[in-house]
Amino acid sequence: MKRIAVFCGSSKGFHNDYLVEAKKMGEYFSNHEIGLVYGGGKIGLMGVIADTMIDKGAEVIGVIPNLLRHEEVAHTEISQMIITKKMSKRKVKISKLVDGYIALPGGFGTLDEIFEALTLGQLGIENKPIGILNTRKYFDHSLRQLDHMVSEGFLKEENRNMLHVSESVEELLQSMQNYVPPKLSKVINLVPKK
Ligand code: AMP
Repeated sequence: MKRIAVFCGSSKGFHNDYLVEAKKMGEYFSNHEIGLVYGGGKIGLMGVIADTMIDKGAEVIGVIPNLLRHEEVAHTEISQMIITKKMSKRKVKISKLVDGYIALPGGFGTLDEIFEALTLGQLGIENKPIGILNTRKYFDHSLRQLDHMVSEGFLKEENRNMLHVSESVEELLQSMQNYVPPKLSKVINLVPKK
């Protein structure tokens, strides 16, 4: 994987482990020549991973919508900042740049972004590996929700299993490296029949 999109909190959370693991992710990317594509902010876990990689001279690309660009939060020291007109365009731009997606702990923004990546994978629009770094088992509640969706018949098990989960940066990246996308079991015809 040449570049990976990382979605993560614009906050830092209440525990130091979140910062430590975001830093480890940045170090792993730098050491393995994986470029970072992310929201372009300098705040929260976003800022931690970006700063770690900038210090190591690694590639860091921010993709930020015009709306957020003028706030105090945009990072000014990254390799490249791509500005999009809208939030929706930003997601498309990110997807064109990356070979995989990872979520670190975060809030609504992070969940929105990683679930969109999963939806694209489920529809076969993309076949890229998707992972979450489960620091402090932060995502356990969300994972239980996914299992509930499977047992209630709203999510196919093979699609649930697209998601790579680990508390270890190294293990997560290795399992994503070996990813084989599920075969599409449902063909979706988006053109209505007449
Ligand atoms: P949240 O998880 O709600 O803190 O939102 C963080 C995620 O949403 C990141 O992955 C970013 O892509 C995006 N995001 C939210 N706020 C900002 C911001 N102020 N600047 C850049 N990106 C942001």
